[in-house]
Amino acid sequence: MCGDKNKTNKEIPALRDVYGECVFNDMVMRERLPKNVYKALRRTIDEGQELDPGLADVIANAMKDWAIENGATHFCHWFQPMTGFTAEKHDAFISPTGDGRTIMEFGGKELSQGEPDASSFPSGGLRATFEARGYTAWDCTSPVFLKSDGSNISLFIPSAFCSYTGEALDKKTPLLRSMGALDREAMRVLRALGDATSSRVAATLGGEQEYFLIDQRFFEERLDLMLAGRTLFGATPPKGQEKHDHYFGSLHERVGSFMNDLNTELWKLGISAKTQHNEVAPAQYELAPLFGTVNVGVDHNQITMEMLQKVARRHGFVCLLHEKPFAGVNGSGKHNNWSMVTDDGINLLNPGSTPHENMQFLVFLFAIIRAVDQYSDLLRASVASPGNDHRLGANEAPPAIVSIFLGEQLTDIYEQIEAGGAKSSKQGGKLQLGVSTLPRLPKDCTDRNRTSPFAFTGNKFEFRMPGSSFSLAGPNFVLNTIVAEALSEVADVLEKARDVNKSAQSLLQKYAKEHKHIIFNGDNYSAEWVAEAARRGLPNVANTVDSLQTITSPKNVKVMKKHNVLSPVELHARQEILIENYSATINIEALTTSQIGRRQILPVAVLFSGQVADAVRALEDTGASAGAQRRLLKDVCDQTDRLSACLDTLDKAVASATAVADATKRAMVFRDAVVPSMNAVRTAADSLEGMVDAELWPLPSYAEMLFIR
Ligand code: ADP
Ligand code: MG
Repeated sequence: MCGDKNKTNKEIPALRDVYGECVFNDMVMRERLPKNVYKALRRTIDEGQELDPGLADVIANAMKDWAIENGATHFCHWFQPMTGFTAEKHDAFISPTGDGRTIMEFGGKELSQGEPDASSFPSGGLRATFEARGYTAWDCTSPVFLKSDGSNISLFIPSAFCSYTGEALDKKTPLLRSMGALDREAMRVLRALGDATSSRVAATLGGEQEYFLIDQRFFEERLDLMLAGRTLFGATPPKGQEKHDHYFGSLHERVGSFMNDLNTELWKLGISAKTQHNEVAPAQYELAPLFGTVNVGVDHNQITMEMLQKVARRHGFVCLLHEKPFAGVNGSGKHNNWSMVTDDGINLLNPGSTPHENMQFLVFLFAIIRAVDQYSDLLRASVASPGNDHRLGANEAPPAIVSIFLGEQLTDIYEQIEAGGAKSSKQGGKLQLGVSTLPRLPKDCTDRNRTSPFAFTGNKFEFRMPGSSFSLAGPNFVLNTIVAEALSEVADVLEKARDVNKSAQSLLQKYAKEHKHIIFNGDNYSAEWVAEAARRGLPNVANTVDSLQTITSPKNVKVMKKHNVLSPVELHARQEILIENYSATINIEALTTSQIGRRQILPVAVLFSGQVADAVRALEDTGASAGAQRRLLKDVCDQTDRLSACLDTLDKAVASATAVADATKRAMVFRDAVVPSMNAVRTAADSLEGMVDAELWPLPSYAEMLFIR
């Protein structure tokens, strides 16, 4: 069952039968747990009440039986260290009986707590290598599941990960803490506004995932893709994405089969993969799931990234999740669709048909606008990475300037509020296409804007800056926390107000005035916007190193501490990890560039120039003129010279960066000296690619990678 990849289409059972079959979901829990245990666990999951440790044994036993019946031999705490990847350490259920046999055991303690060695995970100085102990703790709000790797099937227990001294060493812990903060502050606001029925508020997440698929054989011939995840060399092919012919194009058969296989795997794990299509760049695709609560959404996205890579291999593809695998065509991002929902099902960002009268919606909307404006630096930092530096501001993704798109209807209401009070909401009307057989289409009251980094899209915000390889935990714990902070300010005012409506009105007016500069509905990719944003005083932090500096500014330390999301120590540790990661990534890219340059490209250039020189000599020996050959020889020799010199400069730059002791200064040298030297090597090598015999060129070309399926 779970993970059987050898089924033909005819044998694939109906979707309703596969969906969730590898998840210890509500239905399985209800079936397998005694009623009182089931109810207690639900209270923990739904209402956040602490679970009686006595019940953990019963739950563990039921999980074990279910897992073993489904072929599992092991269990593992599955957690999300600061690497951005997931981690797992498998233990077999076996427990020797003393008479030479074994029984299968799994107790409440093993379910609730794990104790992996924490010393080899990034801790940002929180743990010295010799202080090894770390703990994982079962996060029961994200369901346990079975995952198969080859023929191994293990029970996966989503977990938080902390150090011996209790500091968070992972991405899940601050996310869970931020959800608590958002719940608390949003409920205060709802109560102040007169809501008496809701009792909890949760953030929701739908993460759209972009990725590339290339043939596995090309991947294996490219050290840069294998080690750095992106091409460090490659001349621009004659055709890229300029004809807009890939986006939403018909699916290639091999890609369609891959997607079918992928969907089945995801559905088995209860991940509602829903939308799939060709993306803008050749060989680029997108997958979007149905949204869910943010914690589960983040876990599901992590599993999705893993499955994309696994299933791709089964089809002879490699899935590239890097933000910019290929220069010259679009890179990949991950749209973070985010909203808030109450336990009685109210989407707090649903404007209704007359949003100007919907005070609850407006209060939440304005709190988000205030949060994003006041903490735009934190949001920007939550998407900072060397990979994403290639996207943000590079005319394909939103710029590094955080701004908010509200659209026509809400901007109109915003302006009315600023001027003293909103009296009307613009309506959409109907579209008549001029063909009687075509239906009349109801028109949305607002157009879309694809260029905004933070866009209101009907009943949610879409944060478009995260990169394709990111864990969505970071952007979401920041979003939850800063919105919680803005809501807490609102609640402070409304809880004391004599006339709540009046005081909400004047608060909205104040916010409308203060935050007007962050609202922008135009083209965020244009040069005019960059100039306009500078006039408005909006920060434009163009690279990771600068952005990471802002994480620990006093106001950011304060907000993370106030809502118990990250202590100052934890926040500083994260900053250090991220800055180290920047240097480590650029270092790998630089060493790979040097190695490919010296061991693959230079030798081919030397070989080819020798062949051309032979041809020149042979021709001239016969008395024929060798004009073209001589010109080619000169060009190849010039570029080879340049390549060789650039490689020397690069190696020196790497050595000087590595020698810098201070982490931030080191990252700056990587950014300012190593990155430009790497680019120079590439320019020389790419121009050689345009001259050297294609048969000799050691790397698969862009055209092959992007167009051969
Ligand atoms: P797009 O217009 O960007 O193609 P869709 O409307 O199809 O987007 O939705 C994109 C993503 O947003 C999907 O993953 C969807 O499930 C998610 N989404 C929809 N509503 C919400 C919500 N209330 N909260 C969070 N995500 C949502
Ligand atoms: Mg989108």
